[in-house]
Amino acid sequence: MAEWFKGPYFVLEGVVRLAVKRPARGEIIAHDSGAVVLRCPACAAIQFARANILNSPKTPTLDRAIQCGSGHCKRCGVWFTIRNGEAFPAEAPEKKEVALPDKLKKAGVHPQPELKLKPKAE
Ligand SMILES: [Zn+2]
Repeated sequence: MAEWFKGPYFVLEGVVRLAVKRPARGEIIAHDSGAVVLRCPACAAIQFARANILNSPKTPTLDRAIQCGSGHCKRCGVWFTIRNGEAFPAEAPEKKEVALPDKLKKAGVHPQPELKLKPKAE
């Protein structure tokens, strides 16, 4: 495996499609589909992932961890995230209970209620 590429990662401003340019190491494309396109810091394979870019384009932070190869062909499989323009290895996120999306809530779907103990008889 190649050496870990720490960065700097930065967002290519004005590039929203891959037709224009393929990202080099460190370059992040904020794709107009809402995905981010960037190269894995471990193996340099191009990754497409859904993540929000926080902070500034020059020192971006991703709001979640990305797994290399999760979208397309499996590559090295590492989890990583970008914080302030630097790539960090990340823990695989734990499976959490999925919150109901607003759409379902509006449609009248309620999360399963927690089990409550029966109130004591008076
Ligand atoms: Zn990789």
